Amino acid sequence: MGKILDGQGLADLRAARLKKEVQILKNQGQVPLFCVINIGADPASRVYIKSKKKRADEVGIKQKIYQLPVDETQADLLTLIDRLNFAKQVSGIILQLPVPRQIDAAKALARIDPEKDVDCLTPSNVGRLWQGRHFVEPATASGIIALLDYYKIKLAGRNAVIVGRSNIVGKPLAAMLLERDATVSLLHSKTQDLAAHTQEADILVSAVGRPNLITANMVKPGAAVIDVGINRTASGQLVGDVAFAEVREKAGYLTPVPGGVGPLTVESLMEQVVKLTRRQNGR
Ligand code: NAP
Repeated sequence: MGKILDGQGLADLRAARLKKEVQILKNQGQVPLFCVINIGADPASRVYIKSKKKRADEVGIKQKIYQLPVDETQADLLTLIDRLNFAKQVSGIILQLPVPRQIDAAKALARIDPEKDVDCLTPSNVGRLWQGRHFVEPATASGIIALLDYYKIKLAGRNAVIVGRSNIVGKPLAAMLLERDATVSLLHSKTQDLAAHTQEADILVSAVGRPNLITANMVKPGAAVIDVGINRTASGQLVGDVAFAEVREKAGYLTPVPGGVGPLTVESLMEQVVKLTRRQNGR
C-alpha cells in the first residue's frame, strides 16, 4: 500500500516559515504586493483566486485582485499590465488563465515584467528556466519538487514520466526535473501506447485533467505517483487523473486530490512573491 504524500501538511509547514520571512521584510519597510488579473467569470478561476487570497492573508502578503469584464480588450489589458509593471509597490503580477477568446494570452504574458512574473511564464523567464539559471520558479512544478524532496524521493538518474505537456505544468516540470538529473519523458495526447511509457516511470506525474486516466496496470510497482489533475465528477466530487484506490495498491507513494499538489502550488506562488520582493529590494 503506497504512502500518501501530504501536500496540504507540507504547504502549511512552509507557510508558517514564509510568514516569518514576510514579517522580517515588513520590519524592513517592504510589503509584498501580489496583483492578480482575472478576466470574466470562469468558475474554476474564482475558486483558485479565493484560495490564493486565503493563503496570502495567512502569510501577510497583500493581494490585489483586478477583476476585468468578460469583454475586456487586449489594449486595455496591456495598459493595465504596463501600469502594474511600473508601479514600484507591486512585487508580483499574475494573469489568471484561461482568458476569454479575444485576449491573446501569450502576448499578454509576454508583456509582464520578468522581474514581476510570479508564475515564470514570460518568454525570458521560460528561457532562463531551461538554461538552469532562473530566479523565479513555476509554482506547480516547484511545489512538486518540494514534495518529492520532503519525502526524500530520489530524482537523480531515475525515470520521470510526465503525462501532459502544457506551458503551465508539464513543460516547466520537465525542465525542473532535468535540472535535478532525472531522465525525463513528456507524454501527450498524440503519444502512442501511454502505458508502455508510464510503466517505466520511477516518478509518474499526471497533469491532464481526465479522471481515471492512470490505472494500476500503467504503474511500476513502488513508483511515486503525483496527481496534478483536478476534475469535478457529475456528483460534484473533486478527483484527480489517477484511479486512486487501485493505484495505491501498487505505488510506493501517491498524492491525494484534494490535499496533494494543489495546496503546494498556492504556497509556492506566495514563496515566489516573497522572492521577487526581496530581489526588487536588492536582497
Ligand atoms: P492543459 O493545458 O489542458 O494540458 C493538458 C495536457 O494533457 C496536454 O498536453 C494534452 O496533450 C494532454 N492530454 C490530453 N489528453 C490526453 C491523453 N488522453 N493522454 C495523454 N495526454 C493527454 O491542462 P493543464 O493546464 O496543464 O492542467 C492539467 C490538469 O492539471 C487540469 O486538471 C488542471 O485543472 C490541473 N492543474 C492542477 C494544478 C494544481 O495545482 N493541482 C495546477 C495546474 C493545473 P496535447 O498537448 O497533445 O493536447
